[in-house]
Amino acid sequence: KKIVIAIDGFSSCGKSTMAKDLAKEIGYTYIDTGAMYRAVTLYSIQQGFFSGNRLDEEKLRTSMDTIRITQRFNSETGRSDTFLNGVNVENEIRSMEVAGKVSLIAALPFVRHAMVPLQQKMGEEKGVVMDGRDIGTVVYPDAELKIFVTASPEIRAQRRLDELKAKGDTKSTFEDVLLNVKERDEIDSTRKEGPLRQAEDALVLDNSYMTIPEQKLWLLQQFHN
Ligand code: C5P
Repeated sequence: KKIVIAIDGFSSCGKSTMAKDLAKEIGYTYIDTGAMYRAVTLYSIQQGFFSGNRLDEEKLRTSMDTIRITQRFNSETGRSDTFLNGVNVENEIRSMEVAGKVSLIAALPFVRHAMVPLQQKMGEEKGVVMDGRDIGTVVYPDAELKIFVTASPEIRAQRRLDELKAKGDTKSTFEDVLLNVKERDEIDSTRKEGPLRQAEDALVLDNSYMTIPEQKLWLLQQFHN
């Protein structure tokens, strides 16, 4: 029986859509680990730990234990919400400002050392679908099903742009988003701690030319295999 399903892959390739769809379908909990790194980033912005793109690491390090991150997944609607110290920040953490800083935050070993155990604890419940970059390699190396998702950078950027536009972002351009997607992939792949990496036993899915229902079907097949 597959209890933990790990979905890793590049930025904006639709991992969370796939993961939520699957969780909803099979009655599992969904955990969005990227949202946790985004929440730490939002906290750092709110507290003024950044000046421009420069982060005062020491300030963040000493306030790590004042950051409380929780998530709630509604298996009926398939909606996931992330809370930072009790406040729902699900919308705020999707901004381009957060996206532009999150990979710097996620590369800090002390941040990962705080998030990974939290993710492992969240996964202690019954069945869980977790998406991220290092789930199959670091968080749950024993996951019963590991998926690695990829798509071309241009297609990923277009998908993210559509999402931003749907949420009322009128400023971001395709070029901005493409640059951000590529930058995050580069930082995520080259960091020392928990780099974005395909687990040896992961099934690879390139969803560049797949519809969302097709992806869901494929994932369900892997789950029942
Ligand atoms: O998945 P999402 O794009 O929301 O993740 C935001 C960022 O969080 C990623 O670009 C990456 O830097 C970081 N991340 C990570 N490890 C994870 C999930 C996300 O480093 N497991």
